[in-house]
Amino acid sequence: MKTIGLIGGMSWESSLYYYRIINEDVKQRLGGLHSAECLMFSVDFAPIEKMQAQGRWHEAGQVLADAAVRLERAGAGFIVLCTNTMHKVAGVIEERTRIPLLHIADPTGAEIQRRKLRRIGLLGTRFTMEQDFYRHRLEKRHDLDVLLPDEAGRETVHRIIYDELCLGRISPVSRQKYIAVIEKLVAAGAEGIILGCTEIMLLIGQEDVQVPVFDTTKIHAMAAVDRALEGEPAPLTESDPGARPPLGSVPARVESTAT
Ligand code: GLU
Repeated sequence: MKTIGLIGGMSWESSLYYYRIINEDVKQRLGGLHSAECLMFSVDFAPIEKMQAQGRWHEAGQVLADAAVRLERAGAGFIVLCTNTMHKVAGVIEERTRIPLLHIADPTGAEIQRRKLRRIGLLGTRFTMEQDFYRHRLEKRHDLDVLLPDEAGRETVHRIIYDELCLGRISPVSRQKYIAVIEKLVAAGAEGIILGCTEIMLLIGQEDVQVPVFDTTKIHAMAAVDRALEGEPAPLTESDPGARPPLGSVPARVESTAT
């Protein structure tokens, strides 16, 4: 098993799900007491968020590249950056490390293609929705037609991520706002919805949406397990080790402190 090198903390509210999903998936696939060999470097999100807001992306990239180098030195076989947005600086990380980065858009695009969908709605931070680094990868490498919410919808989705979800606040009112944005995208022709921010799965699940949802946290975490177990001999367990829960489902969420 390769050691998974996770860069977390953006926010930690979703990083803890990475740890959980990865371990649950290894257990599902290898059985018994098996668990994942992994390392996490969890950053302080406050200065990173400030750099994002001020457009200091290269500086933020260096902070994350430092984290990646430390994971590499500690024995990680590859890097998993536990956020969609910060893939904007994926290139900076790749320049500074010799181990590969498992880009979150790739297993997401592959899963959408596997489900034979093409027109897909994207929810995420403004950076993820409006800039090219993420959307273009889905369009060019995975042949998808990406639909975005309108300006008001993008503002709502972005604001709720930073003001609520990254702080662990899960509000039924905000869930309804997200559902309204999603319904507009579906009316505009979206055949599926990418939860393209790792905290959105705290708020929205398949049960809230009529078309398939693609939870990037779960897809990315499970792709990390695929990569870690690549080339491993088939496990000897009594249960069906190859079986996995469907990707559409999300871990149980905790209803909390509505604002
Ligand atoms: N976790 C979020 C994402 O997946 C947003 C926080 C961040 O800006 O990294 O994009």
